[in-house]
Amino acid sequence: MHELSLVASIFEIIEAEAAKHGAARVISVTLKVGVLSGAVPDLLVSAFEAYRQGTRAEGSRLDVVAVPIRLRCPDCGGSTVREDADFSCAACGSRRVEIVEGRELLVERIELETDDA
Ligand SMILES: [Zn+2]
Repeated sequence: MHELSLVASIFEIIEAEAAKHGAARVISVTLKVGVLSGAVPDLLVSAFEAYRQGTRAEGSRLDVVAVPIRLRCPDCGGSTVREDADFSCAACGSRRVEIVEGRELLVERIELETDDA
């Protein structure tokens, strides 16, 4: 499963961040997942729940923020937001658009429980 290896690398980031701040526990993790990233949010959540057992993130919450496709049009300079894979400019209909957002999968925020918080 693709999502499991994604979650494994997400956990490397979480663990590094928790270690840096000396946090015993992770409260929540927020992921930004582009609709073109190829990751399925529901599968990410279940992979996360399986992976967090016995880690500092055990019992933490995973929030997945879906990032729509944002297109930039070199023909008219317009910007278009799409929820699905429709690669055309909303203003002029050009299909020579550039994908600006929607492919990313990144850790947006990690909420940690620290002693000195
Ligand atoms: Zn256009």
